[in-house]
Amino acid sequence: MSTPLHFCDFRSDTVTKPAPAMRQAMVSAEVGDDVWREDPTVILLETTLAQRAGMEAGLFMPSGTQSNLVALLTHCGRGDEYIVGQQAHTYKYEGGGAAALGGIQPQPLNMTAFGGIDLNEVENAIKPDDIHFARTRLLCLENTMQGKILPIDYLQQARDLTRRHGLPLHLDGARVFNAAVALNCSLHDITRWFDTVSICLSKGLGAPIGSVLLGPAEFINRARRWRKMTGGGMRQAGMLAAAGLYALEHNVDRLADDHRRARTLAERLLRAGYILEPPQTNMMFLDAAHLPREKLAVWLEQNGVKAECLNRHNIRLVTHLDLNDDDIEHSATVFEQFAQQQF
Ligand SMILES: *Cc1c(COP(=O)(O)O)cnc(C)c1O
Repeated sequence: MSTPLHFCDFRSDTVTKPAPAMRQAMVSAEVGDDVWREDPTVILLETTLAQRAGMEAGLFMPSGTQSNLVALLTHCGRGDEYIVGQQAHTYKYEGGGAAALGGIQPQPLNMTAFGGIDLNEVENAIKPDDIHFARTRLLCLENTMQGKILPIDYLQQARDLTRRHGLPLHLDGARVFNAAVALNCSLHDITRWFDTVSICLSKGLGAPIGSVLLGPAEFINRARRWRKMTGGGMRQAGMLAAAGLYALEHNVDRLADDHRRARTLAERLLRAGYILEPPQTNMMFLDAAHLPREKLAVWLEQNGVKAECLNRHNIRLVTHLDLNDDDIEHSATVFEQFAQQQF
């Protein structure tokens, strides 16, 4: 069998390439030196997103990892701790940056089936003022969490709890627009419960680079120093911010297409005998325990489907703006044919 020309790439929603119109917006962006706060396009992106999220200010950064790191460095000092989920990106997938660079200790807690942390467990993990303990300074949530949407009433309860204990509440909202679109609510309906929020432009929104940290103006001013210190002060970054502005204008509502396509693919896979939970947004996880994973990896590769089959106990499939209805139809058929041969 010859190698297919076109791959349907389900590994992540970060694999999308900027469309011609987005590239055009980047090329024609008005720019200046953003370290001197003279880049009008960066400022427009920061204020546009802050306004949509109901926040005072925003700060553009190269990556979501840096945006979360800068948030943690701004909220917490040396010897402070933040409460976070075991599988949360800010704990598990950011290289231990808060500990390595900020002397900030994570207090990881098990996560609930819906992707949150049990709030009684959070309350029990908040340390009293005692010299034996690190100072608890922050609660960090993630939405969507591996494709799952945190219920709004849970956000409200988390907000009430953190207010009672005088803690700020940070959202790793790398994919918060997926949650808003799936719930058919505004961004603000989700972000209003948080003190600070980090949003990725380079996931489902399809920009090549960029995240924005949002919060109170005083907080963002302090975060700006941490961004500079961690090497995130960029110069004519308006060319990158222009992609983010284009994405906010053109690529938010269409996330519903990604969600519909994920559901369509999941239904076909379930009918073919694969084990998975129906996706809430653009992400699903095939239980790979009973699958011949090596064989599946070869089959997918030969038939033009890219998915990470070997390195995890489940196979993550993510839909995004570079996968259309034909790609879903093709990929579903490839999985079905494999099931017919193997199950
Ligand atoms: C991708 C991601 C990040 C980090 O973003 P990068 O731009 O890849 O550094 C943070 N949190 C979540 C939930 C993510 O999916």
